[in-house]
Amino acid sequence: MSIFIPNPLYQVIMMKATVFHKHGPPDVLSYEDFESPKVHPNQVLVKVKGVALNHLDLFVRSGIPGLSLKMPHILGSDISGEIVELGSDVRDSLGVGQKILVDPGISCGVCEFCIRGEESLCLTYGILGEHSRGGYADYIAIDQQNVIPIPESARIDLVEVAALPLTLMTAWRLLITKAKIKPGDDLLIIGIGGGVALAALQIAKAAGARVIVTSSSDEKLEKSVSLGAEATINHSTTPEYHKELYQFTKTRGVDVVLDSVGQATWARSLKSLRKGGKLVTCGATSGSTAETNLNLIFWKQLEILGSTMGSRDELRTALKLVWSGKVKPIVDRIFPLSKARDAHEVLERGEQFGKIVLRP
Ligand SMILES: [Zn+2]
Repeated sequence: MSIFIPNPLYQVIMMKATVFHKHGPPDVLSYEDFESPKVHPNQVLVKVKGVALNHLDLFVRSGIPGLSLKMPHILGSDISGEIVELGSDVRDSLGVGQKILVDPGISCGVCEFCIRGEESLCLTYGILGEHSRGGYADYIAIDQQNVIPIPESARIDLVEVAALPLTLMTAWRLLITKAKIKPGDDLLIIGIGGGVALAALQIAKAAGARVIVTSSSDEKLEKSVSLGAEATINHSTTPEYHKELYQFTKTRGVDVVLDSVGQATWARSLKSLRKGGKLVTCGATSGSTAETNLNLIFWKQLEILGSTMGSRDELRTALKLVWSGKVKPIVDRIFPLSKARDAHEVLERGEQFGKIVLRP
């Protein structure tokens, strides 16, 4: 006769998480008991305080062709929290109780791009919550290289700050690294209200640029003025906004356009640029097949710059603006983690100004 003695080392600790077992609409999201993650020697265990939604979450939930997930999957790329346990190989500067943000980029560390510090070009680049389980949970185990300590001097709400990493690193790379925006430059942001656009507005203001924003919502335009936008255009009531801009810039055109709307606005964005101007893009929410007048490209000597996410260094550099209070998380509303389904529905309707954050 043999007696089964459970090994305490394999004791399963449970937590709450919002998961999905199959792709589909928001109602596939389910708040349930889930096994708490194991902490590897190179990892810390984080008690999640805030996890922000991104459009990426909607795409992953619905299903991205070619992306195969281990089900059930946990979404969530933008995470703030507190360290509650350290793996055996974790650096001394991290300790239990440390408040942290999570760098959502997953890179190999050894390819030619990683060695250059260009992690977002990594041959196997992935995003936490997309390619691996994310932060819609009470706890998450994070590799130590993805842990960013929040300085004690930073006056920041630990739940709201989760709104920042992904969109901040994306906007910083677009404007500072790619467009090389300078004091006095005119920047046109197409479609204000989303996370990247709001981070871009604040980064551009901190860099000394003049910012013009467009939206189909007068309410969003008014709110963007309070964040420093100097001119606003309702692109529904003024469809030929490039002509308005032409007058606003005294027939010069703007230095940089940030257009993540794509198909619906692309042609007008190109027309809005000055000679030698730059169009930067990190998305195409209205469709990805747009018409380009090549005469404009060569005659005006325009540059089109694509970008996605950012490097570890770009995120850490951009966060200095947050620690000093020059860039703030803009949060539309906070839902409990158990209401992630409602939060997804709000994001799908696109009525929000700023980020939607879940609180476990
Ligand atoms: Zn790599």
